[in-house]
Amino acid sequence: MNFAYTEEEEGLRREVQAFIKENITDEIRRELADAHAGKGKGPHLTRLQEEICARGWLAISWPREYGGQGGTRIAQYIVEEEFLRACDMRVGGGGSGAPAILASGTDEQKRRYLPDAMRLKISFCLGFSEPHCGTDLAGLRCRATRQGDKYVVNGQKIYTTNAQNATHIFLLARTDPESRRQAGLSVLLIPMSTPGITVRPLWTIQNDPRAPVNTTYAEPRTNEVFFDNVEVPASCLLGEEGDGWNVTQRGLNLDRVGSWRYLASVRRTEDIVNYLNGDGPGAAERRGDPRVRDKVADLWTEAQMCRLMTMRSMSIEARGGQFAYEGAGEKVTGPEHGVRATEAISQILGPYAQLMNGSAHAVQSGVFAHNLLGAFQSTVNHGSIQVMRDQIARKGLGMPRPGRRPG
Ligand SMILES: Cc1cc2nc3c(=O)[nH]c(=O)nc-3n(C[C@H](O)[C@H](O)[C@H](O)COP(=O)(O)OP(=O)(O)OC[C@H]3O[C@@H](n4cnc5c(N)ncnc54)[C@H](O)[C@@H]3O)c2cc1C
Repeated sequence: MNFAYTEEEEGLRREVQAFIKENITDEIRRELADAHAGKGKGPHLTRLQEEICARGWLAISWPREYGGQGGTRIAQYIVEEEFLRACDMRVGGGGSGAPAILASGTDEQKRRYLPDAMRLKISFCLGFSEPHCGTDLAGLRCRATRQGDKYVVNGQKIYTTNAQNATHIFLLARTDPESRRQAGLSVLLIPMSTPGITVRPLWTIQNDPRAPVNTTYAEPRTNEVFFDNVEVPASCLLGEEGDGWNVTQRGLNLDRVGSWRYLASVRRTEDIVNYLNGDGPGAAERRGDPRVRDKVADLWTEAQMCRLMTMRSMSIEARGGQFAYEGAGEKVTGPEHGVRATEAISQILGPYAQLMNGSAHAVQSGVFAHNLLGAFQSTVNHGSIQVMRDQIARKGLGMPRPGRRPG
């Protein structure tokens, strides 16, 4: 078994690193920080994204007919990893929603949405959770009623992250009013500009003070979205009517794997290693402490396990396989590693770990304090770790649903 990258893959990594060195200027970092803070995209960042797009790096592994390069998932991962590490920039994959369109869309839908998603001209927010159901998603009530060649949508979604910026919502709604649970649900791809949609902010704990750039989970805002007699053409339907549950699960599984999930968790360990190896206040004394060294060595070992699980999922994806439970495994190990890393960091730094940006004594501009606050949410969003464990037990280990007798 050989886990090393090929010479060609290492060549791509060097090419991306050289590009980053030349192009990620202070101006770009400032514009990235503004974009993170919801102030929109500046002209330098826009030009940079066009350049990255022209190089084909945004969709290396997608089929050529939909604007991709027909390359491997590993090559895409290398590009994603370098940009995330260097400047917290997400490059590739077309964002949430696009993998589901690739997996379940008609040819016409793939041609309509994917090239624009790749060029970042369109982006999707995910409209699954509702006020009374998150984990128990099959209980959702948002309705999409078919009337001739259109659907009329009524209902509410909650925690719809990025709804204020997204051009479209990837909406899971009940199209069969008589149906129960997973049956009778469908996915609609709806432009956010459609009349009758209202977006209301839900501010998160990362909002005040705003998390500094390089905070791993720095979402200052999520949203509630209301649908009041929203009319959309029937062509917005993704996949078959009534098959929305499967369309959603396929998309979510693909969204759960990849560099972002892995790096978001593992970067907390990298942060503390970088701090200990640097000349920041208290670093020299702390890196000499055997308890600290033991702790970071444990975290590093765990981080390697997270990396290998990601590689495994990507290798299954590259071979055209379906994830039964591997994505769920990553969704457990990554976020739990992230939580353990932030807890270990707070033990190593002591009370300094709690100082936010704005405090004169904050370590690394308060990144650790924000990560400590944000770590837990990664165990909940995109499917909670409890539910992921249940998926592993059922789909991976063949166990019955809780409360049912086998056989
Ligand atoms: C920051 C953030 C961003 C989000 N972004 C989005 C988004 O963009 N789009 C979207 O649709 N949703 C989004 N969500 C919502 C997220 O998917 C839900 O919060 C999640 O599914 C949990 O649902 P809930 O909040 O209703 O909690 P509940 O379902 O009430 O669960 C609460 C706790 O109980 C546990 N639990 C529930 N049922 C079981 C069970 N049967 N067995 C064992 N444990 C159980 C859960 O694991 C969880 O720990 C986001 C959430 C957060 C925190």
